[in-house]
Amino acid sequence: APAENPQVVIDAHGLPYLDAKLPVQKRVADLLSRLSLAEKAGQMTQAERGALTAPGDIAAYDLGSLLSGGGSTPTPNTPAAWARMIDGFQLRAQATRFQIPLIYGVDAVHGHNNLVGATILPHNIGIGATRDPQVAHDAGKVTAAEVRATGIPWDFAPCLCVARDERWGRTYESFGEDPALVESMETVIQGLQGAADGRDLRKNDRVLATAKHFVGDGGTEFGSSTTGSYTIDQGVTKVTRQQLEAVHLAPYQDAVDRGVGTFMPSYSSLDILGDGKGAVKMHARADMLNGVLKGRMGFDGFVISDWQAIDQIPGDYASDVRTSINAGLDMIMVPYAYKDFHTTLLDEVRAGRVSEKRIDDAVSRILTQKFKLGLFEKPYADTSGASKIGSGEHRAVAREAAAESQVLLKNAGGVLPLKKSQKVYVAGSNADDIGNQTGGWTVTWQGSSGDITDGTTVLEGMKEAGSSVTYSKDASAPTGGYDVGVVVVGETPYAEGIGDVGNGNDLALSAADKAAVDTVCGAMKCAVLIVSGRPQLIGDQLGDIDALVASWLPGTEGDGVADVLYGKRAFSGQLPVTWPKSEAQLPINVGDTAYDPQYPYGWGLTTLTKVSSGGLATLKGLAVAASLAERVGSEKAGRAVVAKARLLVQQKVGQGITSAVAKPFADADHLLLTGKYAQAVAKLTVAYKAA
Ligand code: BGC
Repeated sequence: APAENPQVVIDAHGLPYLDAKLPVQKRVADLLSRLSLAEKAGQMTQAERGALTAPGDIAAYDLGSLLSGGGSTPTPNTPAAWARMIDGFQLRAQATRFQIPLIYGVDAVHGHNNLVGATILPHNIGIGATRDPQVAHDAGKVTAAEVRATGIPWDFAPCLCVARDERWGRTYESFGEDPALVESMETVIQGLQGAADGRDLRKNDRVLATAKHFVGDGGTEFGSSTTGSYTIDQGVTKVTRQQLEAVHLAPYQDAVDRGVGTFMPSYSSLDILGDGKGAVKMHARADMLNGVLKGRMGFDGFVISDWQAIDQIPGDYASDVRTSINAGLDMIMVPYAYKDFHTTLLDEVRAGRVSEKRIDDAVSRILTQKFKLGLFEKPYADTSGASKIGSGEHRAVAREAAAESQVLLKNAGGVLPLKKSQKVYVAGSNADDIGNQTGGWTVTWQGSSGDITDGTTVLEGMKEAGSSVTYSKDASAPTGGYDVGVVVVGETPYAEGIGDVGNGNDLALSAADKAAVDTVCGAMKCAVLIVSGRPQLIGDQLGDIDALVASWLPGTEGDGVADVLYGKRAFSGQLPVTWPKSEAQLPINVGDTAYDPQYPYGWGLTTLTKVSSGGLATLKGLAVAASLAERVGSEKAGRAVVAKARLLVQQKVGQGITSAVAKPFADADHLLLTGKYAQAVAKLTVAYKAA
């Protein structure tokens, strides 16, 4: 059985495509020349593994790929079971005429999140808050190592969405609202894939990555459809061409340059104002897929559809298939209709409505990645790295990421950091819930509350760090001589759609969370941690809260959160999205002309740096240093200078952030990310004067 004897040596039969010493291009050309049309159509088909009516269908339909999708049937829950399952499928693929291995894909969007016991990192919104490209890179590397060790070579991540409206239920899958921030986090692609030329893909700790969802998924308009459901997820992105380029397309060229192997178009429609086409589904947009992505941007990997997304293209199934393939889709995540898709595609080619040239291009792109991954030489799982899954080494990376992702929004009276000896009373719905702190896409698609996987909760981390920590979830015992209360509230898990905002459709805390905050903050000095995929509206309680922390969805390592709470590490996170005052302000983003948020984009206090003194004179000096950093091209110096200037502003501002401060403050952070240090300091000087 393959699981016990994983690396079967394939007899090359003397065929060039099986000769690993030949260049990939030659191998692709050779194999392509041998394939029948049906075999080619098979390579372009991706089925959900739970949809296979018989395992023999892999060979019968020459399936090129299988996935375990979000909405999949229950997944195996041990590394060995994953490897065994996938090896079993690969064995079937070896029974085909040319022994073309399957490429198996999963959504590992914050670690190997389908697997119980895997290391779960903060969701992207938290990674964006770290502002640290090394953290993004390392998160990708840990993910890749754990995923590949279970026999899976392909990850539908990262999401490069630029989330512009927090009512979107996928906001947490975004690195932030600023395209420059998203772009700076694309080091995650190197973490997943290794070197940009793809030479590391055959290693047993790398996976093929997917840039998704191209393009404009984070820019859809909020509204209600005629059926009463909210239209923001999978809805319409209405933008001018200039906005499309500057906001949504901007991060993608870098992903192409980093050698990302696959792209996934967005479910959403794109309406480019003034182009006369109206709202057209991204899966049908040849201008964007063939034109911009494969043409202008020079993407030479393959394009995989989203789950059943071609079904949303107007017209019958034949038209869905023809339109999407002709628009530039190379492989379709059908995921159930694999038989239908296969037959329909063949019919469309035979009728001349899809050219054989297009098919050959698609199949070449797919085979190229399979060769690069080394799947022809090693189709079966190499589980030698499985001991690293959930290991101390990997958890240390996740812990550091969690610590760096914490954003200190308010710290009146220096409540944080806590002192080890202080009596700390912990309460709230998210203090001791690993499911809530990992969020959606964890173990199951939607995720769930409770003890769903291994790790430490925030409470457990705090008990480890502090000498006197007491807890009651519902805040029922806040009496009796505590030094500080820590209330951990926020969201419960969800994936896609509008999330957990419910009927009121707002981002307010639940009644129970509000009550816990009231009780604790009414009785003692308090810090409130918000564990959530997006900002929550806390304006009405803010006055009673001494310290406020945006914790995002920190993952399985709650001790990383405790590290900053107890001052083992300084708070250093910055807001990756604007924190709004009210529902009515949405959408609200850096760069807006009217900008009056609760906390601006880029906000984040630190507990490390000694309160530095200085005013305008110091800012003048920093401006000179910033120009110098820019001139010599020193990113490190530039960042340090802007960070100092930011600190001066934050210190002076205290609690009352007016829009006259917020706007230049947020703009400065965007300028910093684009390397304009001098302009950033100039903006911060404006903010300082207004404070
Ligand atoms: C999501 C994608 C995901 C796919 C497969 C879709 O619902 O939009 O992001 O990759 O499912 O699970």
